[in-house]
Amino acid sequence: MRRLRLELPLAVQIGAVVVLFGAALGTLWYTSSRVVEREQRRARANERLREANDQLEALGRDAIAGVRPFPDFMDASDWSTLNRRLSDDAARIRERHPGIEGGYYLPSRPDQPFLPDLPRVASDHETGEGSGPAAHSVSPNRQSLYDYVDTQVDAAFRKKTVLSVVEDIAPYTIAIRTAPVRVGGRVVAATWTMTELVDPIYIDQSSRGYRWFAGLALAGIALSLILTINLAQTVRRQTAERERLRTELRRSERLAALGKLLAGVAHEVRNPLAGIRGITQLWQRGLGLGEEAHTHLIDEVDRLEGIVSRLLQFSRADAQDLAPGDLNAVVVEAGRLAEDRARAHEIRVELELEPILPQVEMAAPALVQVLRNLTTNAIQVMKRGDVLRLVTTYDAATASVSASVMDEGPGLSAEVMEHLFEPFFTTKPEGTGLGLAIAREIVLAHRGELRAENLAGGGAVFTLTLPAIQASSGRGAKL
Ligand code: ADP
Repeated sequence: MRRLRLELPLAVQIGAVVVLFGAALGTLWYTSSRVVEREQRRARANERLREANDQLEALGRDAIAGVRPFPDFMDASDWSTLNRRLSDDAARIRERHPGIEGGYYLPSRPDQPFLPDLPRVASDHETGEGSGPAAHSVSPNRQSLYDYVDTQVDAAFRKKTVLSVVEDIAPYTIAIRTAPVRVGGRVVAATWTMTELVDPIYIDQSSRGYRWFAGLALAGIALSLILTINLAQTVRRQTAERERLRTELRRSERLAALGKLLAGVAHEVRNPLAGIRGITQLWQRGLGLGEEAHTHLIDEVDRLEGIVSRLLQFSRADAQDLAPGDLNAVVVEAGRLAEDRARAHEIRVELELEPILPQVEMAAPALVQVLRNLTTNAIQVMKRGDVLRLVTTYDAATASVSASVMDEGPGLSAEVMEHLFEPFFTTKPEGTGLGLAIAREIVLAHRGELRAENLAGGGAVFTLTLPAIQASSGRGAKL
């Protein structure tokens, strides 16, 4: 199937979905409220029919029960009295219920039609004696109505139960109720009531209108579904594109950082190399080399080695096997390693560990290295009697765990803050400026972040934050 792809601006798509959905819901609401209204009217009509029917039935029962013995030994005058009485009763009830037609049906003597209130086409049937409305002739349209009443009365009589129907008999829509009349446990007659449902919502045209409305609503919903799917596709495409751009950006950022790093390495390596070269040239010229020159040579080589081993840490930062581990354990180890140097400077090391810390994906030795770089810097800026604090926390809102190194040193100036994590940025005469750059690389390789801030009461805090392992996440990823 060809994938539907509307290249419309996102805002237009969202707008269209909202408008269409709103229109569809509005139409559905209108249609359903009209249907409910229609049902209410139908129920009201039924209620009125029932009332009239009950009255007819009660009167009919009394009238019939009053003629004894019914019906087998009735003579013509009994029939005529009963006929007149039922006819009068029916007329009274009709008067009491305007808009409702109704009467009796007594089929037990087919040779004497007893349909006092059912109008007939005069030529078709002989009407009962003294019957009021039955004397009128009716139009063929109406006649089909009464034919229908006939069948309903017949059905109620035979089934011995109340029947209630709404029927379209063009051009009318009518509600009919028919009920058996029982005398002494026998069904001896039936009553009928009928009313025309004249409200426009009962006319055929309006139900066609409904169908249109319902169709429109469905079309609206279908269209808004299509647009929603399209919208979801657009959002997914844009998310993927954003993710791709972010990856690209990270790549180019790292390439730029690598460029800077290499430039720094070249710069850093050049100084000791120049020193070594100078000493070697003196040597070449046969100039004697004193103890000082030897020491200088060894210092320069040490410096080169320091740079190389730091660079090795850099290259390792990216290629570590990550496995679920406990950050508290890493902090305890880093605290232990910092202890000796701290004691030498009369600095106290304190740990504040969050008791329940979710695991994180980590290469523990690399994270120990990060904390080591941080604690080394911290100890270097602190005075005697200061306290170095290592703190772990868990943030449930972002599902991340953190480890902070807090010192009581002078804090970070704006200028230092700006270049803090750049390779080879240092303010120390013997510094390499690689400690924080490496720490940050390692943390990034853990999909975490490393932040530096000044503490309100003086001193600096470096915080590394790593994503906590969610219950469903995979294990042992390799970056
Ligand atoms: P290095 O320690 O070799 O200088 P780093 O990358 O570890 O390299 O640190 C870079 C610079 O950041 C340091 O020279 C120092 O100026 C500053 N710095 C690092 N940690 C702290 C700290 N805890 N307090 C104040 N300044 C710091």
